[in-house]
Amino acid sequence: MHDKTIEAALDALGATAGGLSGDEAARRLADHGPNRLPEPPKGSPVLRFLAHFHNVLIYVLLASSAVTAALGHWVDTGVILAVVIVNAVIGFVQEGRAEQALAAIRGLLPPRSAVLRDGQRITVDAADLVPGDIVLVEAGDRVPADVRLIEASGLKGEEAILTGESVPVDKSTGPVSADAALGDRESMLFSGTMIAAGTGRGVVTATGHESQIGRISGMLGGIETLTTPLVEQMDRFARWLTVFILLVAAALLAYGYFVGHLPFRELFIAIVGLSVAAIPEGLPAVLTITLAVGVTAMARRNAIIRRLPAIETLSSVSVICSDKTGTLTRNEMMAASLTATGHLFQVGGSGYAPHGALCWHGAEADPGDHAVLIEFARVAALCNDSVLHAHRDDWRVEGDPMEGALSALAGKITGDGNTSFGDWTRVDSIPFDAVHRYMATLDRAPDGRSFIHVKGAPEAVLKLCAEQRGAGGETSPVDEGYWTGQVEDLAAQGQRVIAVAIRTVPDGQAGLGPGDLDGQLTLIGLIGLIDPPRPEAIAAVAKCQAAGIRVKMITGDHAATARAIAGIVGLENSTRVLTGADLEAMDDAALAEAAIATDIFARTAPADKLRLVTALQARGLAVAMTGDGVNDAPALKRADAGIAMGVKGSEAAKEVADLVLADDNFASIAAAVREGRTVYDNFKKVISWTLPTNAGEAMTIIVALFAGMALPVTAVQILWVNLVTAVTLGLALAFEPSEPGTMRRPPRPRGEPLLTGGLIWQIVLVATLILMAVFGMYFHAVDKGYPAPLARTIAMNTLVVLQVFYLFFIRNIHGTSLNWASAKGTPIIWTCVIAVTGAQVAITYLPPFQAIFDTRAVPLFDGALIIVIGVVFFALIETEKQMRLAFLPRKTDRNL
Ligand code: ADP
Ligand code: MG
Repeated sequence: MHDKTIEAALDALGATAGGLSGDEAARRLADHGPNRLPEPPKGSPVLRFLAHFHNVLIYVLLASSAVTAALGHWVDTGVILAVVIVNAVIGFVQEGRAEQALAAIRGLLPPRSAVLRDGQRITVDAADLVPGDIVLVEAGDRVPADVRLIEASGLKGEEAILTGESVPVDKSTGPVSADAALGDRESMLFSGTMIAAGTGRGVVTATGHESQIGRISGMLGGIETLTTPLVEQMDRFARWLTVFILLVAAALLAYGYFVGHLPFRELFIAIVGLSVAAIPEGLPAVLTITLAVGVTAMARRNAIIRRLPAIETLSSVSVICSDKTGTLTRNEMMAASLTATGHLFQVGGSGYAPHGALCWHGAEADPGDHAVLIEFARVAALCNDSVLHAHRDDWRVEGDPMEGALSALAGKITGDGNTSFGDWTRVDSIPFDAVHRYMATLDRAPDGRSFIHVKGAPEAVLKLCAEQRGAGGETSPVDEGYWTGQVEDLAAQGQRVIAVAIRTVPDGQAGLGPGDLDGQLTLIGLIGLIDPPRPEAIAAVAKCQAAGIRVKMITGDHAATARAIAGIVGLENSTRVLTGADLEAMDDAALAEAAIATDIFARTAPADKLRLVTALQARGLAVAMTGDGVNDAPALKRADAGIAMGVKGSEAAKEVADLVLADDNFASIAAAVREGRTVYDNFKKVISWTLPTNAGEAMTIIVALFAGMALPVTAVQILWVNLVTAVTLGLALAFEPSEPGTMRRPPRPRGEPLLTGGLIWQIVLVATLILMAVFGMYFHAVDKGYPAPLARTIAMNTLVVLQVFYLFFIRNIHGTSLNWASAKGTPIIWTCVIAVTGAQVAITYLPPFQAIFDTRAVPLFDGALIIVIGVVFFALIETEKQMRLAFLPRKTDRNL
């Protein structure tokens, strides 16, 4: 197609420049199939299951079971093998669940594409594109299919994934030679590549696996890894801990055999029990589950994780730099006022409906009496890429909401609804760009006259104007002072201000460049648009501030508009504003200083965002930064948590972001931070539960071995306890909901390790208490004259009961556990507790289990005593925590 002329290409595809009809598109979709790339093949489930046996502990256990089998101790062998299999099954199931959760996330952000159908611009799922469709692309888009261009304006493609060429290449509509290499086919856009600049439209030539990218590769993107730095850190820790424990176990085996002269069989199985008890084999898997639970919870709150490590960084974020338009505000715009020379009009109507009256001096203004209004309408309608659709009485915008508001304004002036100036044709255009902040079009009237229409930020447009339109239609030199004052007035009311300008050009002018504008435009006037703040954003800003997070606004909008909105949403410092020009004048040191104290940055260019992130990070702050445009990508990449807008954001921004907001809403950022903190807390809880209980079990065996005492709990029983608690209690904490004060705490210090001095103290304290309780109950039972098997059964149940109480304790690491909410628990917690209780009742009272594990029925009184011991244990550690919390310095000093 690249060598054909536009007409020939359209012909060959049975297409027209106006697009396919909906019916034809549906028919072709049935023929060609959805525009999707084949998914990469997954490993076979059997292999993935077997992978869970590839683990040092498992090898040791398998070897141990061989040894016990050789010794003829079948019960031991059976229990060890059960541990092995259950471990692998848990790992396999958990991994599957985590992957499912992440796969579901992937499906939440289907690529969308603007397309002409039945002559109308609409947005469809990229999967629904068919050959012959006319698609529209702009800077930051991912090309949805292979496309032969029929229109290109300043268009550049970034085709590295296809050609390896990382410099964007110019695109144009002329045919190229038939044997041109992919990288030289200027008239084509290829599926999966990015638009680096400009706008264009073209006809789809190939979709799905017929496209160039479909021929060479499978699906791209998505979440690559199942891990984060902290999980990796724990994984490494667990592996070294395993080695350490195995060395200790070997030493103990040697000691017990050669020095203690213990019988080999008892000693060996005790050492195996010790190893299994001490090694936190399930820990990395449980942490992965915790992550998956967090990812799902965030998705429910419209925050879609693209890169898992972002969950961790979110929990330490101390500054959020947010866009204004659409994030803090609704991005539901409406033109409210027009300022012409000497005239001020109020605009009526509601929403995007293109009907409503204009008022002047309190009375309805007739466009016939005010020629300037028609010029306003012309720029508003023609320098505009959006389309208004009516769904019964509900008007919606396809495209930029601000442009939608301008279309509606044009309709109100002309009375033509959404078809104002429909008989004009656009010849060329300069697309809007956040750097130059204006958009220009070259349009031809039905009578053949040509005009340039420009709209944009007032400073940008004023710079291009030499003259202004007077009240009587005459022109006079631009009165800059007057206009700047008017801009300030509108902006101070929180309105977004747009200037519009016109130029008459010779008939038949075919191209438009910046040189056609400079100093040659006639300013028509200003349009003030209202964009109310989101009420939920106001609440979310307050929440973030309570959580020790400073919120800053970074906008391309005017300083006064930004200040007015900042005041309403409640930024901490809503008076001081720095503009892009101010930032430019500062060196990095001055910027670092100013970036901390200032909360409003206006008229910024995308490059300023990168400097701001860097400056804040230099102060040791963890920064979350939002962005939507293609130029925001470097700042998003640099930020600790880069956040892209799901609705108005470009694919380029989403691509590099850690997090995508499905609703563009600031409140979703606050929700994501809360979930991030919860995940981090749950990491801590899982670890704080696992390590001390493991240590307690292991210490029980070690002490008995060294003291030459009989084991208070047999090795097989230890294996059993490990098995039962690992699938229940150990997993329950992964699902813990947020603690009540989660958003009233300051952010955790950046890079704080999971294993802190506090945790080590916790391990020592809890392990010691468990040790004392287990031995205490064992000796108590022996003292009472109970037979050894019964004493051991009591000791084993004590061990489990303490673990249950410890679980309830760990659920509240930041506050008290002594209230109804904590005691009430969650369904998951209670399910686990009931499962453990059931298992313990079974092993204690059911004859078959009694035979295997050498247990005896525990009398009621002793059972109650075990519970009492649990309560005392709980009281001790809770009191100890309250003591610590009381002395903990309240971290109110913020480094902001
Ligand atoms: P924001 O931070 O509010 O999203 P932008 O960078 O999108 O700001 O826009 C900056 C300024 O550029 C706006 O205040 C407006 O004056 C102007 N502008 C925005 N969109 C357009 C557009 N489509 N056409 C012309 N000018 C625009
Ligand atoms: Mg914007």
